[in-house]
Amino acid sequence: MTVALVTGVAGQDGSYLAERLLGEGVQVHGLVRTPDRLDVLPAGLHLHAGDLADTVAVAELVRETRPDEIYNLGGISSVAASWERPVETGAVSGLGAVGLYDAAWRLQEETGRPVRVLQASSAEIYGSPDRSPQDEGTALRPTSPYGVAKAYAHQMAAVYRARGLGVSACVLYNHESPRRPETFVTRKISVAAARIARDGAGTLALGNLDARRDWGWAPDYVDAMVRAARHPESGDFVVASGRTRSVAEFVAAAFAAAGIDDWAAHVEVDPRFVRPVDPAEQVGDPRRARDVLGWGGTLPFEEIVGRMVRHDLAVLGAA
Ligand code: GDP
Repeated sequence: MTVALVTGVAGQDGSYLAERLLGEGVQVHGLVRTPDRLDVLPAGLHLHAGDLADTVAVAELVRETRPDEIYNLGGISSVAASWERPVETGAVSGLGAVGLYDAAWRLQEETGRPVRVLQASSAEIYGSPDRSPQDEGTALRPTSPYGVAKAYAHQMAAVYRARGLGVSACVLYNHESPRRPETFVTRKISVAAARIARDGAGTLALGNLDARRDWGWAPDYVDAMVRAARHPESGDFVVASGRTRSVAEFVAAAFAAAGIDDWAAHVEVDPRFVRPVDPAEQVGDPRRARDVLGWGGTLPFEEIVGRMVRHDLAVLGAA
C-alpha cells in the first residue's frame, strides 16, 4: 500500500489532496499545526499535530510513517500574513521545507526505496518578474517575506534533486475554491455577493480593483501536484491557467452569478485593503506541465466563480 504524508492537510489544497489520495486507496498521514477547520477533513486520515518549523519532530514523523510520497503544502498561507510574521515565515515555509527534504533523503538512503517529494511552490517566488508570462526559467525576484521563504525552499528542492531525491516543485498561481478562506479576495467577493443577493442591499469594501491575477480551480492544481510527484522526471512545473483577470472582473462575474447586475453600486474602495507592495499582474505559462505531465485545467473562469458563489448562496440559505 502506498503511504503519503501531507503537510498543511487542513488547508484548501490539503483537504482536496487527502480526499483524492484516500479515494485511490493510499494510506494518508496529515500534519496539522492547529486543530481548526478539521471538519473539512475526510474520514480515514491519520492526523498528526505538529509544527513544520520543528524539524526534529518532522524528521521523526517521516521515520515513523515511512512515506512513499510527501506533499509539502504547509506553511504561512498568505503574503499578507508573512508581513505580520516574517521570521516565522522563514522558519516554517523556508527551513521547514528543507527539514522535510532532508528527512525524505535520509529515509531513502536508509531503506533504499525511493521517496517522492512535492513542494508546493508559489508564483510569489517571481515577485516583480522580468518577463510575462513566467515559466520555469524566469529569474526569482521575490518581493515579500513569503516570496523569499518560498524561493529558498524552491532552490533547496533543486539542491536535493541533484543529491538524488525525487523532489518536484509546482509553482502554483492563485487557485480558488469554496474552501478558500475569506482572507483571499476571491472568497471575500463570493461571500459578499451571496450576502448582498440575500439581503437585497449591502456593500463590499476592497483594495486594488485593477490588480490582475491568474486564477485557477484548486482541485485541478492538486491534480498537477500528484502528477508531478509521481512523474519519473522530477523538476519544476509552473501550474497556472495562462490568463489573467482583474479583481473587478472577478467581482462582476461573482455578482452576475448571484443575480446582481449593477455590481459597482455595491463596491467601494477602502485604502485599508490596498497593499503597499503588490505585483500588478501575475501570469504563468503552464506549457511544461501540459507537455510533460499531461496536465490541464478543467474549469473556465466563469465556472470557478459560479461554483464559489453558488456554494456561498447555499450556505446562507439564499440559493
Ligand atoms: P495573493 O495574490 O496570493 O495575494 O491573493 P489575494 O486573493 O489575497 O489577492 C489577490 C489580489 O487582489 C491582490 O492583488 C490584492 O491586492 C487584490 N485585492 C484587492 N482587494 C482586496 C481585498 O480586499 N482583499 C484581498 N485579500 N486582496 C485584495
